[in-house]
Amino acid sequence: MLLIQQFVQPKVCGYPRLKGPSFCFLITHTSGQKLLFDLSVRQDFENLAPTVVDAIRNPLHDWHLSTSRDVSEVLSDNEVRLPDVRAIIWSHFHFDHVGNPALFPAGTKLIVGPGSRAAIGNGYPNEPDAPVLASDWEGRELVELDFGDNGDILQIGQFKALDWFGDGSFFILHTPGHAVGHLCGLARVEEDSYVLMAGDCAHHPGEFRPSSLAPLYSPSSTNYQSSQTSGYGQTAPFFQPAKNYTHDYNECLATLEGIAQFDAEDNVFLLLAHDNHALSLFEEKDDLGMRWLFPEKSIDRWRKEGLKQAVHWKFLADFGRLVD
Ligand SMILES: [Zn+2]
Repeated sequence: MLLIQQFVQPKVCGYPRLKGPSFCFLITHTSGQKLLFDLSVRQDFENLAPTVVDAIRNPLHDWHLSTSRDVSEVLSDNEVRLPDVRAIIWSHFHFDHVGNPALFPAGTKLIVGPGSRAAIGNGYPNEPDAPVLASDWEGRELVELDFGDNGDILQIGQFKALDWFGDGSFFILHTPGHAVGHLCGLARVEEDSYVLMAGDCAHHPGEFRPSSLAPLYSPSSTNYQSSQTSGYGQTAPFFQPAKNYTHDYNECLATLEGIAQFDAEDNVFLLLAHDNHALSLFEEKDDLGMRWLFPEKSIDRWRKEGLKQAVHWKFLADFGRLVD
């Protein structure tokens, strides 16, 4: 758990702490190739780079972490062969996304966004202040994506994008701002239905909801008419990102505008890495005791199952005490 004002502004009374998961996504192509988008927090987080361990233990931060198993173990226990994982994509190199890539075979590539290699340097212990461990990519291919002008780069919404498999099934979007080289994943899970893995583009959905494209009230309601004059909290987001933990604030705001456009599309299900309300939905058991979590159920069917509608405004509950 984290103090919310470290991540978003303004401070909301009655909602002092940010609590959430750190989602990791297993993507399986029709060919059988697998990718991981993010790796969550490694189980032995005391073995992260010392600069990160110091930050975790800093009483002023007041962070509380818990993680029970590494992603590699969860996969192996559920009959996913680790050599089938062709690549791990880090949305960015912050500790709550990088996991422990050393637990994967050498053939699993590590993919990072533009500028990341310079930012992570040679890793700890080669560089005492490095934010990641050299062992994360020692003996494996570390690939820094390039979204510069060449024939392979697409434009999807406001973002430059790469078509990973070349068949429109999985795109990597360049979404800088929160961190150097931040990436999002956009997977086509059914014919006209996508999941946007949004990493840390925001730490709370209130940083891009509501928006003029997806207002809190429908344009036909009287509340919508009045919201046109007030804007804030009805056709404009409740929060702004805090400047702490933001690499480039203006890029961060531009990225938020871009992901708000995706969020307003009926065929895109946007998931922030730390969306606690999405987690509570995914943890609900159906009649057979199954949850929307690996290995029980895939979220591919999110559109037919109404998952987006179920979670989209759930975050308003965080403001319950203000509304009471
Ligand atoms: Zn981050």
